[in-house]
Amino acid sequence: MKQIPVESTEFRGALVAWFKRVGRKLPWRETADPYSILVSELMLQQTLVTTVVSYYLRWLKRFPTIRDLANADETEVLLAWQGLGYYNRARNLHRCAKVIAGGWNETFPSSVDALIQLPGIGRYTAGAIVSFAFDRPAPIVDGNIARAVSRLLDLQEPVDQPRGSEIIWDFATRYVQGANPRLLNSSLMELGAVVCIRRKPMCALCPVRSFCQTKDPESLPRKKERPKIERKTELHFFAVKDGRVLLQQNPGKRWQGLWSLPALPASSESARSNHAPSPSLSLSYPITRFVVRLNVFLREPPDSVRAGQAWHRLESLDGLPMPSPHRRAVQMALQRSWGI
Ligand code: SF4
Repeated sequence: MKQIPVESTEFRGALVAWFKRVGRKLPWRETADPYSILVSELMLQQTLVTTVVSYYLRWLKRFPTIRDLANADETEVLLAWQGLGYYNRARNLHRCAKVIAGGWNETFPSSVDALIQLPGIGRYTAGAIVSFAFDRPAPIVDGNIARAVSRLLDLQEPVDQPRGSEIIWDFATRYVQGANPRLLNSSLMELGAVVCIRRKPMCALCPVRSFCQTKDPESLPRKKERPKIERKTELHFFAVKDGRVLLQQNPGKRWQGLWSLPALPASSESARSNHAPSPSLSLSYPITRFVVRLNVFLREPPDSVRAGQAWHRLESLDGLPMPSPHRRAVQMALQRSWGI
């Protein structure tokens, strides 16, 4: 692996000049408010930019300040997050707001060391807030940066292993020690997001092509082999009584506090066996390394409800936080039953 002159005016200047010319105008790039940047960064983890834009704008209308978010109840927060998935991000954002608006008296920390004490804030998010909001030289490495840097360096070490990760972070650290860290980080990130893309990188348009060491960009970045995608099936039921739907509030980690269709009781062996009847409706959704098939059976209302279950009026469903696959399943079941 050859070094490249990452601290040079030529390298930084080429990237920054290119970014100023063609960088995308994104709403979180128009602000230096640390709360807005925190919101955008948590939303952008595992979600595409194009999806995040509308959520981000709606969120800031609903919770314009960190105090507004801290004072909101969890149901409101989960509802505003609904559709983005990975709800722990919303809970962590809410917890961060409570810490900053409460114990820290609305003083937003401006150092990486202080920020990583907050729930759900890692080295990347802390660096993003410090550089984007406070314009201080904190490095950031996300997937886009790791890919672009691994190619610039022709790095053969897996980027998700300690040695490879250390090399990328070292590059990002040296790179950001220049004038205007906010612009420096934004431009490196943009390079990976729009030019040095996963398939068919646009090397002919690359502002730092003359520094790039790789001859085979699509073979990089190297990563440790991932576990294979697994399939699993979840069985739930849909029951309606007097214009109300039976739902279950999730106690588990994945969808904690959200309302979903009740799981089929373990005693419903006929639906679980190999000779099970076909579900009334079925849909699939991905989550982490699983593809889940959600099978739903239309059932007569049960005589009694279990702990955590409750009947909800049809017209109140829009105001309940629900995981997207279950909301879709409820809509499909209502359409099937009543053409609603
Ligand atoms: S020249 Fe190609 S591979 Fe190298 S950094 Fe630019 S876009 Fe990526």
